[in-house]
Amino acid sequence: MIRGWRFPLPRGCPFCDTPVRSLPWAPVWKRICPHCCDGFSPIAPPYCRRCGRAGREGICPDCRSHPYPELIQNCSAVSYTPHTREVIRLYKYLGRERFARPMGEMMVSVAACRVRKPDVISYVPLHPSRLVERGFNQSEQLARFIGKKWGVPVVSLLVRSSPTRPQSQRSRAERLQSMEGVFELHPSIPVGKLVAVNILLVDDVYTTGATLGACARVLVQAGCNSVRSLTFAR
Ligand SMILES: [Zn+2]
Ligand SMILES: [Zn+2]
Repeated sequence: MIRGWRFPLPRGCPFCDTPVRSLPWAPVWKRICPHCCDGFSPIAPPYCRRCGRAGREGICPDCRSHPYPELIQNCSAVSYTPHTREVIRLYKYLGRERFARPMGEMMVSVAACRVRKPDVISYVPLHPSRLVERGFNQSEQLARFIGKKWGVPVVSLLVRSSPTRPQSQRSRAERLQSMEGVFELHPSIPVGKLVAVNILLVDDVYTTGATLGACARVLVQAGCNSVRSLTFAR
């Protein structure tokens, strides 16, 4: 006798391993357990058209005085809640690199209808000393996942020329000031290569926009047509 098989098979939530009844190819939100789902706050309209912050119609007050005009739009998947902060902490500092996939999927699902498809995807670089310490760049991992999903090339366009203190210890004004001159064009990028190119920068979190704005400035100075950003949290 052939016994019936139970379908779908229970699988682990990609963040906490709690068994979830879903198919491996189900959309990411269906593969996450109810507890993790409740912890994330997906950014849905209304949101700031410029920085993607939830709960704002039009342009939010921070963006009205935007000191980084080179970054024309940011889009983020979820709001920066305590749960989101913990997920990012586990990913970045405790090496849960497997989180890149569900996080990347959440970013792709939100960006599909909100962000113009770029010519090139890049990411916020880590200083070499921090890369050695951490062993991976979370922004690069997310960018590579998204690039693969979209079929868009992922290129390392920037280098971080000086290490910066963790941004979470700084005030908004300090963050903006501290980013001056931190990023440079990657030495492997030939002069003129970025002219008329539309770039999407990937990072894990958009806080004040200082980091992504500083990256965008370098890319615009190198001649690119537009810089937008996509982050997991805002
Ligand atoms: Zn979970
Ligand atoms: Zn805004």
